[in-house]
Amino acid sequence: VGPPSRPTALDESLEIAAGILEQREEERDTRRQMIVRLTLADRSLQTLFQPIVDLRTGGTVGAEALARFTTPPFRPPDVWFAEAADLGLGTELEVSALRSALLELSRLPSGLYLSLNASPATIVSPDFRAAMAEVPAERVVLELTEHEGIDDYHLFGEAIAEMRSNGLRLAVDDAGAGFSSFRHILNLRPDIIKLDIALTRGIDTDPARRALGSAMLAFGLDAYNASIVAEGIETQSELTTLQSLGCHYGQGYYLGRPAQMSVLPRQISQTGGRLLDGPRRSPLSKTIPLNPDMPVDMERLRARIGSVRTRSA
Ligand code: C2E
Ligand code: CA
Ligand code: CA
Repeated sequence: VGPPSRPTALDESLEIAAGILEQREEERDTRRQMIVRLTLADRSLQTLFQPIVDLRTGGTVGAEALARFTTPPFRPPDVWFAEAADLGLGTELEVSALRSALLELSRLPSGLYLSLNASPATIVSPDFRAAMAEVPAERVVLELTEHEGIDDYHLFGEAIAEMRSNGLRLAVDDAGAGFSSFRHILNLRPDIIKLDIALTRGIDTDPARRALGSAMLAFGLDAYNASIVAEGIETQSELTTLQSLGCHYGQGYYLGRPAQMSVLPRQISQTGGRLLDGPRRSPLSKTIPLNPDMPVDMERLRARIGSVRTRSA
């Protein structure tokens, strides 16, 4: 037996690659453990509710449940859900978020619907069915996120037919943001179509967006008799434009930020006032942050109160 041969450059490269793979595997394990903890729906998973408003009357008709993960590192919810899906835990995390939201359904003012986000894979899962079996279907709207395609619309339609016949309403989310939302609309005949934020943003100044918004409204209203909800309304001018295009429902920071359920009734009364009074309302009412995500800056608030008092004095 001769002396041990020196490692070649290839051996060294392979060793480095093996080390990197091992590290990736460890990272994946850590991320998996974090998501598994989140699926247990402990206090690190919370739900905020954003009002959905009738743009003709100012009345609030429903609220969308939006998950918040308070565990570090901070990531927006869609990133957590994408990560969970990547690790094969997408349905678990979505059902967990959905169950947290449903726990608050009894506190939602009567007459308002609860709008829940779910991907096609979750909607056809037994866990989702089990969660939905416990709630009054007629108070729930299911927002189908468009990011995933649906291979077999017939099977998908059958999976939700019974829930729909019990009163559950189906919404197609993020319409106008990609091709699959159109396919969902054509194949599933949703009760509600949610116009994507990208269409609302600047609809007041951009003729192309206005034309597309108007076409989407005609498409949804005339062809499907669906209700249209414009998402992401941030300014009075976007609101006025959408109203003039005949959009009946809307959602966005200008009408109400996502907030805890306990804050929702106060927010609803302010929204109605804002919609009916429009820009004539006191500037102060527009600056009070209602979103617990955004802590109140007391210094700024006092300064604003001071300036409003001085002006109205
Ligand atoms: P989405 O379903 O399209 O939700 C609307 C997003 O727009 C929310 O972001 C909301 O906070 C934000 N938003 C509302 N009004 C305005 C506005 O006026 N301007 C702007 N710029 N944004 C506005 P969020 O809460 O960060 O959620 C992001 C996405 O994460 C959601 O998009 C949804 O796809 C997903 N998501 C959130 N919660 C859940 C959940 O419980 N389950 C599932 N499956 N997905 C969820
Ligand atoms: Ca949504
Ligand atoms: Ca959306």
